[in-house]
Amino acid sequence: MDYISTRGSAPALDFEGVTLTGLAADGGLYVPRDWPQFSADEIAAMAGLSYVELATKIMMPFVGDSLTEEELFDLCKRAYGRFAHEAVTPLKQFDQQHWLLELFHGPTLAFKDVALQLLGRLFETFLARRDQRLTIVGATSGDTGSAAIDAVAGRENIDIFMLHPKGRVSDVQRRQMTTVLAPNVHNIAIEGSFDDAQAMVKRMFGDTQLTGRFRIGAVNSINWARLMAQVVYYFAAALQLGAPARKVAFAVPTGNFGDVFAGYVAARMGLPIERLIVATNVNDILHRALSSGDYSTGTVTPTAAPSMDIQVSSNFERLLFDVGGRDGAALAEQMRGFEKSKAMQLTNAQREGAAAMFTSARADANEMVRAMAWAWDKCAEMIDPHTAIGLHAAREAGLDRDIPVVTLATAHPGKFRDAVERATGVRPSLPTRVGDLFEREERLVELPGEYDAVAAYVAEHATPSA
Ligand SMILES: *Cc1c(COP(=O)(O)O)cnc(C)c1O
Repeated sequence: MDYISTRGSAPALDFEGVTLTGLAADGGLYVPRDWPQFSADEIAAMAGLSYVELATKIMMPFVGDSLTEEELFDLCKRAYGRFAHEAVTPLKQFDQQHWLLELFHGPTLAFKDVALQLLGRLFETFLARRDQRLTIVGATSGDTGSAAIDAVAGRENIDIFMLHPKGRVSDVQRRQMTTVLAPNVHNIAIEGSFDDAQAMVKRMFGDTQLTGRFRIGAVNSINWARLMAQVVYYFAAALQLGAPARKVAFAVPTGNFGDVFAGYVAARMGLPIERLIVATNVNDILHRALSSGDYSTGTVTPTAAPSMDIQVSSNFERLLFDVGGRDGAALAEQMRGFEKSKAMQLTNAQREGAAAMFTSARADANEMVRAMAWAWDKCAEMIDPHTAIGLHAAREAGLDRDIPVVTLATAHPGKFRDAVERATGVRPSLPTRVGDLFEREERLVELPGEYDAVAAYVAEHATPSA
């Protein structure tokens, strides 16, 4: 399988190449040249597979010649063996129509583990094969950081530099990153928002001072392999609810548009999806873009769902590329305009293409609290603030009653104990697998929100590639 850039001018790469590359050299994101297809019969035959078997089947066409099927199966087996639930992503029921897909049974309690546990192992395999080192730079609004650090801590060929916006992640989130003391792990708290951190990381990919000495890799969802791994649980959930004979809808708490884009990929591969419901909090650029075509950034408002406190959603570019006729040159120009003015209008083709599959809804703080309280009072399910925003959107979507709607549970409620306690009156416990998090020593550096300071820190502390 070949991968091409959304901005049309970077060289095409194979799966191994995109996994190690992150952002394309032309500033775009890599996407498969075409979407692998599964027929209804092929999908029907997937019923009853284990998660690892299903993952291998769904991902193999994307991996192409970069791994054998046995190698991919073995990596999946090790990645998903670290999950605390046999089903990996178990499906639970709220009521007649609404379902909950629990994606938080990995080591760091958020859905990011599903992709990153695999990605860490893909990095290790490909780097060993090439005898190379990788310097990972990433920005986190909370959950990517801990999941990525868990996935690569102590690995020989990798350094990881993780930027988080100082004071804007929860205590549990911060400690899950900063208490990992492996020498290849570097936590950096910067002054500013997640978007500021993400912009710095994107700039590093084009900074020849860094790229000349280090192979810079990405763990954010600009990395294609992450999205690929997330496609699997859309199939897993839909199969349990009767796919391909029955259509299913998904409500997805959305920030960087990675998770919900994986749902779009599942649909493009042949999974019958009725709707993808993009749920945002008050940081609602995606809701505005999908409902009125206006993609313009505002300032970020901190909320109880920090992993969604994002204004610029990197993966939206992948959707605009695919529904806008896959015209890299035109999209490059559109994105240059956006980067300059922080605003753009979607084209008619982009609007119509997106509307065919996506609807969106926005939840404010009260609506989020009400959704958490409903899940607890009516269904005995404790959900986290991000998931609550998804559930709110699911229940507002007004889909026919015979369409099952699956809300993606993106984080464990124990990760956001204060917010959950405020909404339900009950303080969720932390699963035992996080251990003595609050007793452990923390290590991090604080840097100003200035690109040069951060780039200099990386240059000083990373190990040059051979
Ligand atoms: C990362 C994250 C999101 C947003 O996912 P995207 O793929 O960035 O849209 C939502 N909820 C939680 C808990 C997260 O960690």
